[in-house]
Amino acid sequence: MPELPEVEALADFLREHAAGAVVGRVDVAALSVLKTFDPPITALQGRDVTAVARFGKHLALDCGGLWLVTHLSRGGWLRWIDSPSDAHPKPGKGPLALRVHLFTPEGGAPAFDLTEAGTKKRLAVWVVRDPHDVEGIARLGPDALAISEPEFAALLGSTSARIKNALVDQSLLAGVGNAYSDEILHTAKVSPFATSRSIAEEQVRILYDAMRTVLTGAVERSVGQDAARLKGEKRSGMRVHARTGLPCPVCGDVVREVAFAEKSFQYCATCQTGGKVLADRRMSRLLK
Ligand SMILES: [Zn+2]
Repeated sequence: MPELPEVEALADFLREHAAGAVVGRVDVAALSVLKTFDPPITALQGRDVTAVARFGKHLALDCGGLWLVTHLSRGGWLRWIDSPSDAHPKPGKGPLALRVHLFTPEGGAPAFDLTEAGTKKRLAVWVVRDPHDVEGIARLGPDALAISEPEFAALLGSTSARIKNALVDQSLLAGVGNAYSDEILHTAKVSPFATSRSIAEEQVRILYDAMRTVLTGAVERSVGQDAARLKGEKRSGMRVHARTGLPCPVCGDVVREVAFAEKSFQYCATCQTGGKVLADRRMSRLLK
């Protein structure tokens, strides 16, 4: 699932390649992704892309006062095409959800696709006059890269949720998901089960620094990968996330996994839980 660093990289790519272009035809290949109908998506045609922004894990294009907003969700991605076919895509075929044709000031006619892999279709698109008309954006907490250390400390102090759950709660803190919360907690050597408001002051400072280090490092790597030219998200530099069974890069202990219905998360017992292996029974209570 694209999180803050990947979405920031896509926004960065679009700022460079799509800003200043005029929106052409918008092909909707999967009608279910459209969450709004007024204004209609056809209203984007002929408008200039004036800015590209990120709100948490949402990507938003300002098309002269009308915003095209997307949440890529778990299997979604944005793919750039230099020379798209002019044919209308066949609805319901393959991963394509939406194609936006563009006309650049240099005379190019590229496009970008919003695609979604897998059977669970959760990618969402909105056309709104204000990004905050999107409910998921209106309820976002402060951005993980914009929050100050005192604000972060106050935020953790306000919740009795497990820290793993608090970090991924978008209404508390915007931008962090399952993958980067694993990385942040491992970097800070904090147990995913720690109760947020009980984390010691010194530890909160370490956690805050870890969050900034992990996210800014990932943004730099993601931007360097030219995100929109990749077929899907390609992450590098993960220490524990999705590395179950591999050695912890810090201590060499095996990276362990806590699995539940649709997700799993990873941690190092030696680095984070004083050697304690987390049982699955506690798991279901942690992330439900
Ligand atoms: Zn370790």
